[in-house]
Amino acid sequence: MDTDVLIVGAGPTGLMLANQLGRRGLRPLIIDRHAGPARQSRALGVQARTLEIYAHLGLVDRALDLGKRATGADIWTRGRPSARVPLGDIGRGLSPYPFLLILGQDDNERLLGDLLRSRGIAVRWNTELVGLVQEPGRVKAMFKHPDGTIGEVTAAWVAGCDGARSAVRELNGIAFEGAPYEHVFFVADTQVTGPMVPDELNVYLWQEGFHLFFPMRGTDHWRLVGILPRHLRGRDDLTFEEVIPSVRQEAGAGLSFKACSWYSTYRIHHRRAARFRDRRCFLLGDAAHIHSPVGAQGMNTGLQDSYNLAWKLALVVSGRADAALLDSYEAERLPVARRLLSTTDRAFSLFVSDSWLAGLFRTRVLAKIVGFAMGLDRARKLAFRTISQTGIRYRKSALSETLAGLPEAAPHGGDRFPWVRLKFAANGPVEDLFGRLDDTRFNLIVIGQTTPPCGVPELGDLLRIHEVPMDAANDRELARARIPGPSFYLLRPDGHVGLAGTHLDTAAASRYLTARLHVGIGGR
Ligand SMILES: Cc1cc2nc3c(=O)[nH]c(=O)nc-3n(C[C@H](O)[C@H](O)[C@H](O)COP(=O)(O)OP(=O)(O)OC[C@H]3O[C@@H](n4cnc5c(N)ncnc54)[C@H](O)[C@@H]3O)c2cc1C
Repeated sequence: MDTDVLIVGAGPTGLMLANQLGRRGLRPLIIDRHAGPARQSRALGVQARTLEIYAHLGLVDRALDLGKRATGADIWTRGRPSARVPLGDIGRGLSPYPFLLILGQDDNERLLGDLLRSRGIAVRWNTELVGLVQEPGRVKAMFKHPDGTIGEVTAAWVAGCDGARSAVRELNGIAFEGAPYEHVFFVADTQVTGPMVPDELNVYLWQEGFHLFFPMRGTDHWRLVGILPRHLRGRDDLTFEEVIPSVRQEAGAGLSFKACSWYSTYRIHHRRAARFRDRRCFLLGDAAHIHSPVGAQGMNTGLQDSYNLAWKLALVVSGRADAALLDSYEAERLPVARRLLSTTDRAFSLFVSDSWLAGLFRTRVLAKIVGFAMGLDRARKLAFRTISQTGIRYRKSALSETLAGLPEAAPHGGDRFPWVRLKFAANGPVEDLFGRLDDTRFNLIVIGQTTPPCGVPELGDLLRIHEVPMDAANDRELARARIPGPSFYLLRPDGHVGLAGTHLDTAAASRYLTARLHVGIGGR
């Protein structure tokens, strides 16, 4: 076998997977058909859940320094300001990063690429996957280089992180079901002055569509996204200068464009792979699902596909878990993609519909509804949980178990364990739980009780134990997150609850690990 894991594609999804495997002691082979990293900024929004993962990777401070926190969204209708949604700490108390970070995909790829290099893992550029043969226990992969020469490697597992036109998906004959939207969009990275509220997301709604201005790093730098007006559709040779008059019409004559460093038109598709796995090949990121950019979910979802698969692959490759554990990747991530596609599709259709009624809704009603809803604490929290991806949970997964006795409102098996700040010793300091979690291992949180001396022997050095004593400050914080005491939570490496219950039952934990996680019964 030449490599345990072959990663096809060095976009954000592939780089995240390579890093996550690298820090778990694997040496994946990562290839990309291009000569080097992409230069366009493309995705701009980094969600809180991604920042939490970046914190474990040691990248979050650099990401925060490079990016801009979205402090608010200003909605303009027919050229007039009509609502402002404060976003600065919209998820206060729910995540250490209660905001959306605006940071281009190119910067994200650079951070992930630098980290990978520092681990001694280099992307093999100019290497295009052109063939795959699945054999018992291994996959043979054929590559093409720019000079036409063909190479071959064998891998135990293949991760298709190779984008919307995925060769891994096509070579495995997996359908990519869905369709393109009928509208054509444009995107431009510009230097521009105008009425936009500085440093905030500015949304211009108009009868025929919308224009979005995203603040970017640098003075007067804005990413402008919009639908091409009807009279400009169907043209392949359209320049940004020809789009400007329609933007001015909505955002005001005061708009003054000084430079445009990137301009592109594109059609958006909504598609999902029928399966995310075929025997030893997996699909992740855009190879598995593409959808409209509503809610800035695309890049983030791919990063989290990788986070979900990496710890499972690492356990299987190192012989600490049976390959059956890998079945949970598709079982957990396909429903996430299905939900994402349907919600972004509904929201997007409303945003882009050409109908007179939709235009009326956009220009007369939408800003009022958004302004009102975002004034309500519950609605704000729901919006944050949904968009930040901190609300994603796998309750129906075979890896999720909740023992009898835990209140309905408490975190259950499959939930991302809530962000809390607790004391871990009677007279100790208050600490951020997420800062203590080791995401290369399982974490057992034992609340208001002591851990039996035998612990959880199946996990050995793969387990970290965090005991939480009950005291007034801890009680308040636990109550805020609806965590009862006594209780215990066995967290998977990715921070989702595997097993939850009231009194720590080590026999139940052992049963859970062998029967559901297939840990301790290793095999490749
Ligand atoms: C114009 C534009 C604007 C966008 N705006 C947003 C946005 O605002 N918000 C958002 O969330 N998302 C946005 N996206 C989508 C976002 O860019 C993707 O979701 C993200 O790039 C997915 O990452 P990925 O790593 O899965 O795939 P990709 O970034 O597509 O990376 C795939 C990699 O695989 C390589 N590859 C492909 N085939 C092969 C092969 N046969 N052999 C070897 N290597 C191969 C490619 O060279 C590429 O480097 C935008 C995309 C575009 C094009």
